[in-house]
Amino acid sequence: MKKRKEILYPNAKDSVLNKDPVCCMQVDTRKFTLVSNGKRYYFCSEGCLEKFRNSPSEYVLDKDYDLIIIGGGPAGLTAGVYASIHKMKAFLISDDLGGQAIDSTKIENYMGFDFITGPELIKKFQDQLIGSHYLDHLIGDVELIENYNGGFKITTSDLKKYRSKTIIVSSGMKKRKLNITGEEKFQRKGIFYGNIQDLSFVQDCDAVVVGGGNTAMQIVENLNMVARKIYLVSDIKLTADAVLIERIRQIKNLVLFENCKVVQISGSKVLSSITIRKKGEKKHTTLPVCGVFAAIGSSPNSTLVNELVALNDHGEIIINNDCSTSFPGIFAAGDVTNTFGKRIIIAAGEGAKAAIAAKQYIVNLKKKEIKDNVTVK
Ligand SMILES: Cc1cc2nc3c(=O)[nH]c(=O)nc-3n(C[C@H](O)[C@H](O)[C@H](O)COP(=O)(O)OP(=O)(O)OC[C@H]3O[C@@H](n4cnc5c(N)ncnc54)[C@H](O)[C@@H]3O)c2cc1C
Repeated sequence: MKKRKEILYPNAKDSVLNKDPVCCMQVDTRKFTLVSNGKRYYFCSEGCLEKFRNSPSEYVLDKDYDLIIIGGGPAGLTAGVYASIHKMKAFLISDDLGGQAIDSTKIENYMGFDFITGPELIKKFQDQLIGSHYLDHLIGDVELIENYNGGFKITTSDLKKYRSKTIIVSSGMKKRKLNITGEEKFQRKGIFYGNIQDLSFVQDCDAVVVGGGNTAMQIVENLNMVARKIYLVSDIKLTADAVLIERIRQIKNLVLFENCKVVQISGSKVLSSITIRKKGEKKHTTLPVCGVFAAIGSSPNSTLVNELVALNDHGEIIINNDCSTSFPGIFAAGDVTNTFGKRIIIAAGEGAKAAIAAKQYIVNLKKKEIKDNVTVK
């Protein structure tokens, strides 16, 4: 084994943005860095740095695991922490660490915090996973899950393959589109799905929020700081928590259109208006706006396993009390499942439950292997 020639920089303070060579995460810290064979590397954590140091090649992740967790939102991150606490040989693969919760600007319903923002809470989750309870992890997209040799083969979009005895699917949800004329043309150029951090482009102009749930109410509250007038369009009566509805009703520059459908988004170079109509009526109303924020719900990211496990009519993975699915060895947690309540605290709780259940499944597999060997002898 050829040893790398390296220098360690344990506590440098400057801020940079670099790709961790082990987990592919973009890291903005120089806390964990070393120079190897003349090249400087940056790591997300002590754990990734150690993996890199101890490996003879650039490729340092294992190929075989007891558990692979797909998705790094509140459900997946919590499952990861629990898998680490239970000393499982586990691996977390996710497009990002944070999931939908990162878009929440005001979390008022997570225990232990009267108020915390999504990015702040997720930073705490991440630190707990990669700092305190290190687990192998990779920023990547899972493309395929196959039933393989009594376990599973997982292929990522860069065609790397990993094997595992169990998996936890915690792939969450993706935002629904409006499916109306003009929507594609103004993608990220005036039309956004859910909250965004930088609202300066609607400064002193009018904006519309489409939707009637908690996310829509949060966006209205954020826009209140910057926009001149806010239109809130919902095709049903508002469904958000009563406390939020009460709060947004106090906003003076808010105009509410309930039981209305959006029909079209228009503009030449930039988005300039949205057209709506009352349900069951022909008459159209055009609202001059420079920004459209759609918060009309999400659909579950369950296509990865739709040929393996049972789904309900909404495409959610049907789970049992212990987060097991109809396929032995596949567990699921969080918003991708049919669990009641799409909330961070519920997703996190289900993630913990799924990891404990996967651990129990592995223990039972091992017991069975021992019993079968004894019987054969
Ligand atoms: C704007 C907004 C505000 C919200 N505010 C609140 C709030 O105040 N309080 C509250 O309790 N809840 C809130 N929620 C809901 C909450 O965020 C979700 O219930 C929670 O994030 C669900 O967690 P999850 O882990 O199940 O899924 P998600 O958060 O959706 O995470 C799924 C993860 O899976 C990854 N993934 C998906 N497919 C793949 C794949 N093929 N390969 C690899 N990775 C994949 C995604 O990148 C993501 O990291 C809010 C949601 C939004 C959108």
